[in-house]
This record gives sequence, C-alpha cells and structure tokens, in this order.
Amino acid sequence: MTSLADLDSPGLAQQFAAWGYKPSHAARVLRSFYDGREIVSPPSRGLPQGLVEKLQTTFPSSAATLDARQVAADGTTKLLLRLADGRTVESVLMPDFRADRAAGCISSQVGCAMGCDFCATTKTGFERNLTAGEIVEQFLALRREASAGGRKLQTVVFMGMGEPMLNLDAVLIAVRRLADNALGALGWRQITVSTVGIVPGIEALTATGLNVHLAVSLHAPDDATRARLLPMGKRFPIADILAAADRFQARRGRPVTIQYCLLAGVNDSLEHARLLAELLGSRRMHINLLRYNPTGLSLRGVTYEPSSDEAAEAFAAVLRARKLVAHFRRSRGPDIDAACGQLRRRTGGVSEAACGGAL
Ligand code: SF4
Repeated sequence: MTSLADLDSPGLAQQFAAWGYKPSHAARVLRSFYDGREIVSPPSRGLPQGLVEKLQTTFPSSAATLDARQVAADGTTKLLLRLADGRTVESVLMPDFRADRAAGCISSQVGCAMGCDFCATTKTGFERNLTAGEIVEQFLALRREASAGGRKLQTVVFMGMGEPMLNLDAVLIAVRRLADNALGALGWRQITVSTVGIVPGIEALTATGLNVHLAVSLHAPDDATRARLLPMGKRFPIADILAAADRFQARRGRPVTIQYCLLAGVNDSLEHARLLAELLGSRRMHINLLRYNPTGLSLRGVTYEPSSDEAAEAFAAVLRARKLVAHFRRSRGPDIDAACGQLRRRTGGVSEAACGGAL
C-alpha cells in the first residue's frame, strides 16, 4: 500500500499529470499532509473534487495505525505503530525542559541484527528494513503527539530499533523529506543519525554532504570490551570508527556525539574512563553518558545493571578533568516500558529493548 508518506513532490506531480490534473497541486497537497491538515474538497483548498477523490482512494494518508500508546510521569510517550504488513514499530516522544518543545526517537528497522548484548531488540533478530514512508509516518505520528500536548517536535534522532546505516537508502530519503522546507520543514541540524560503528555507513553519510548530526554508540574504550558488548566491534575496530567519525566531523564542522551506556562492573570503572579520555584525546566530540534501563537476561546470559550514581559521577569527573565535554542523558519514562521495544513486546510484538537500551 502506497501512502502519501511514500511520495515526494516530483513523484506526486507526475501522478497528478497522469490523472490529467495540474502537477502544481502536488506541492500543496504534500505540505498540507506534512502539516497534519486534512486534504479536503474545494473550495477551501482549491483542489478539483475529482483529484481529492482520486487521492483519497489511491493514496491513504497513512499506511500505519496507532496500536498502543504509553505516557510516563515525566511526559515521555511511547507510540506503537502497526505497519501495513502487521509488524509493529516503536517511536518515542521526549518532552524538552522547555515547555513548548519535544524530541522524537525514530526506528529504522523492525528488529535488529546487530546483536548488542545489553539490548533485547536484537534477541529475536532482524525482521525487515522500514521503508522511507514508514519512517516518515513515525515522524508525523510524533509530530501529532507533540502538537496535541502543546509542543513542537523540534529534533529527531534515529536511535530507535535497528541500525540506520544498514538501511541507509531509506533513512536518507526520509531524512531529506523530514528536513525539506516544503515537507517536514524540520531542518538538517535538527536530525541525528546514529550508528553502532558501521564504518562504510559513516563514510556514505559523510559523502552525501547532508548537514545532519552523527552519533556513534561506542560503549567501551577498548576493542576487547566492546566486542563482548557489540559483536560489530569485531568487524570494525574503534580506531577505524573514530577515523571515520573524524572525517565526518571535519566535513561537517560540528562535533560528533559519542554514546556511552554505563553498565555496572562492565565498562564503568575509572580505568575505563581514563582509557576513553585517552582515546578521544583532543577530539572535539561530545560524550553522552547513558543510564541503562535493564532488559533482563542477555543473549550471552548476562544480566546487566546500570552503574551506581557514584560510579557514573566518578566516570564523568575523569572525562571532565581531561577537558572533555560529557553530559548525562536523562533516563526517560522509567515508569512505563522504558527501553525501546518493551511496549512492542507487551502488546504482542516480539522483541524487548532498545538501541542503547537507555531511553
Ligand atoms: S542497541 Fe541498537 S544497533 Fe544494537 S542491537 Fe539494539 S537496536 Fe540494534
């Protein structure tokens, strides 16, 4: 099923021409669609009645439906969207400290093949890539949710289920639509694409020249620890990942974000902090220290726990003493199915956790 979210302006204009209508209607129809307005019959929108009927019967405004919704005490809202093939995907709206703003977290795949050991999304493996339209639909659902709460969806991060670099074609199409002033009008700088360190993906993103942010999930300062947590660490050494991130940063001129999920007794010692500080050295990168939301027994049979507040503060202090920029990312929605994927599992999906396990 093709929905309006699957189309861009030239494609819809071509379709209008084939139906015998003015191609110039396409831009207005899509703008209304992205703004969340109904595409209604004339005279209010100036569209020919026949075109409105054709649109309504050919391209539904959405191929996904809202299957479940959870709201946490802190306002974090999880949406479970059911896709046309019955599979489900999660998106998360996170209120900003400013009362009128919110950030969205979007999935790029159904399931995930990366096997990160602290993340239960990967427990049942990879199901399929999302289409660009399905990614756009998550954005629009989050924008509606934000708007209903009196907020503006200000930023979007590709940190939900899946590895964006392994579905990069669809992610890039969606990113262009989200950023495009004539469509999502979000702006490039409001979009962050994350990766567990797929070097060719980072290189491909760099080559596009798109003015988006890059976040790299590092989670360990040495290859041996990292490979135990992230199987992809065996394929791509940290040195290669950081070299690719350096090239992205040099091209874009803005700091890459290093994601580091603190796991008690695994990667949160002072020695780990010192190694991380040495690794990043004088790099002008920002470090996000993530609080882990436990997701039960891992694939390797480990039950990970979040670092204590004391250990986390000591870790951050080592980094800051080396003049590195390190922030804690707040734990989101701890009173609901906190890690991405848990809502999906509870309501009949299959997997349990999240990219980074730390929303
Ligand atoms: S943390 Fe992200 S990349 Fe790793 S398995 Fe989970 S969803 Fe996939």
